[in-house]
Amino acid sequence: MLFGGIEAGGTKMVCAVADETGKLTDRMSVPTRQPEETLKEIAAYFKRYEIAALGIGCFGPIDPDRDSKTYGYITKTPKPGWTDCDIAGFFRRELSVPVGFDTDVNGAILGEVTWGAARGCNCAIYITVGTGVGVGVYVNGGLLHGLVHPEAGHILLKRHPKDTYAGHCPFHPECMEGLASGPAIADRWGKPAAQLAGRDEVWELEAYYIAQAVADYILTYSPQKVILWGGVMHQEKLFPMVRTGVQELLNGYVHHPAVTDAIADYIIPPALGEDPGILGAVRLGMLELQ
Ligand code: ADP
Ligand code: ZN
Repeated sequence: MLFGGIEAGGTKMVCAVADETGKLTDRMSVPTRQPEETLKEIAAYFKRYEIAALGIGCFGPIDPDRDSKTYGYITKTPKPGWTDCDIAGFFRRELSVPVGFDTDVNGAILGEVTWGAARGCNCAIYITVGTGVGVGVYVNGGLLHGLVHPEAGHILLKRHPKDTYAGHCPFHPECMEGLASGPAIADRWGKPAAQLAGRDEVWELEAYYIAQAVADYILTYSPQKVILWGGVMHQEKLFPMVRTGVQELLNGYVHHPAVTDAIADYIIPPALGEDPGILGAVRLGMLELQ
């Protein structure tokens, strides 16, 4: 049996077909243009396969509330043309299959829980530090929604006393995304993050903010694994810095060996490489069929 997945991003949409074991049998990617032409091209791709269900891990904000009239929509996004786009409904109508729908980061943690580094966990989180900061939350065996969905990339942080940067988020001068996303790094230091690899002060400050956010997520969600990724985390030297920072901030209070003794196996990159998002989308489709 085949399942389709879409990792719907603001820049590109990755589409894939996989079997029930999560083995990808085909994939393609299209640039995100206006909704109609982008979604029609994707529908034509999936019509070449007999898929039993489709899952979408979507850029947000979205409406994940099944009881809402706008369930399955992208809601008030700054991405021009995409506000109030009924993306899940479009594919349900075009493909006549069940369509699972969630945020891109909830998709990514679902992928890691199902086939990756968080297999067997009841509670785990996926944090991406990239163009934005997003957090996917899996708790008590399911993905977390509530009023809407977690927006934990916008938690407020304690500013570093030497950091005078105004922040990149138009809503909050001192949120995680505004202080630590890739564009915030570029804006603060005057160069794209990837070109700042040799500047220790850049990564010390970055680790200072990521560690604060991760410590807060550990305190609030009590995850059994913390998966940390996104373009900025390609600076893999950040991992040991973040782990040490988290231990210092928690200061022994979360008294569990995962944090106190084995943090190198606790705050980790995804096991699915660059694929947790697309595999998680496939899994959203499988769950919808069930
Ligand atoms: P998105 O968040 O748009 O899905 P990414 O997760 O790839 O995409 O994140 C893109 C951001 O990551 C950009 O701001 C970019 O500058 C930054 N980035 C990409 N590669 C690196 C790198 N090797 N080192 C540091 N930052 C990087
Ligand atoms: Zn913010």
